Amino acid sequence: MHDQPVALVTGANQGIGLQIAKELAGHGFTVLVGSRNFERGEVAAGEVGPGARALQLDVTDHASIAAAAARIRDEFGRLDLLVNNAAISHAGKPGRPLADLMQSNRASIASIDEVRAVFETNVFGVIAVTQAMLPLLREAPEARIVNVGSGVGSLTLNADPGWSYRKGFGVGYAASKTALNAITLSFAIELESTNIRVNVASPGFTATALNNFEGTDTVEQGARNPVRVALDANGPTGTFSGPDGPLPW
Ligand code: NAP
Repeated sequence: MHDQPVALVTGANQGIGLQIAKELAGHGFTVLVGSRNFERGEVAAGEVGPGARALQLDVTDHASIAAAAARIRDEFGRLDLLVNNAAISHAGKPGRPLADLMQSNRASIASIDEVRAVFETNVFGVIAVTQAMLPLLREAPEARIVNVGSGVGSLTLNADPGWSYRKGFGVGYAASKTALNAITLSFAIELESTNIRVNVASPGFTATALNNFEGTDTVEQGARNPVRVALDANGPTGTFSGPDGPLPW
C-alpha cells in the first residue's frame, strides 16, 4: 500500500481544481490529477509536482470512472480524500459571457438539453464518482469527500428577496449546485457512522473559465476554503461553507 495519503481531485487540469491539487501536494498528499483529457492532466500533474499523477477521468463516462477506480486500487491501494471539483456552467462553446449565461438559464426558456448536460456533470457525475470511490474510502483510516459547491445553490439565500444575487438562480448551473447540496447531505447522512466525512465547500466568486474569468477572486483565494475543509481531519460532516464561514442550505 502507498505510504502517503492519496487524494483524487476531479477536473484538476485547470482552474480551482488545479490549485487545490497543488495545495494538497504541499500538505503531503499524493495527488491524482483527474482530467478528462489525459494529456492536459499530465501537463497539470507536472505543475503540481513530482509526486502527482495524471488520471484520465471523465465524470460522465462510466467506463472512465471504473477504470480510474481500478487504477487507484492497483497502483496505490488506498484513497483518503476525494474532491469532487469537476463541473460545467453550460454546454455551449467556451467564452460565453456571464450575463448571457444567466439570461439563458432562466426557468422559462432554458434549453432542457443544456440543463440535462449540466446536471449530468455536476450532479450525476458526482454520485457516480463517489459511489465508485467509496470502497477505497471506506478502507482509509480517516476519509473525506469534499464537494465543490456554490452559494448560488443555496435555497435559503435565493428565497430571500433581499439577496442581491438571486436573479442568477436559474434552472441550470445554480439549480445543479442546489442538487449537489442535496446529494452531499444524502451521502453524509448515510455515512455519518463511518470514517468518511462529506461536506460542501464553496470557493467564492473566482476568475476561471467557468465564468468567462469574470469572477473577482484569484484561484489561490478560491482554493482556500475547499482545502481547509479537505484538511480538517477531525472536522464535522454534512456542512456547507464558503470563504466567509458557514452558508445556509
Ligand atoms: P473551470 O476552470 O472551468 O474548471 C472546471 C474543471 O472541470 C475543468 O478541469 C474541466 O475540464 C472539468 N470538467 C468539466 N466537465 C468534466 C467532465 N465531464 N469530467 C471531468 N472533468 C470535467 O472552473 P472552476 O471555477 O475552477 O470550477 C471548479 C469548481 O468550482 C466547480 O465545481 C465549480 O462549480 C465550482 N465553483 C466555482 C466558482 C467560481 O466562481 N469559479 C464559484 C463557486 C463554485 P476541461 O478543462 O476538460 O473542460
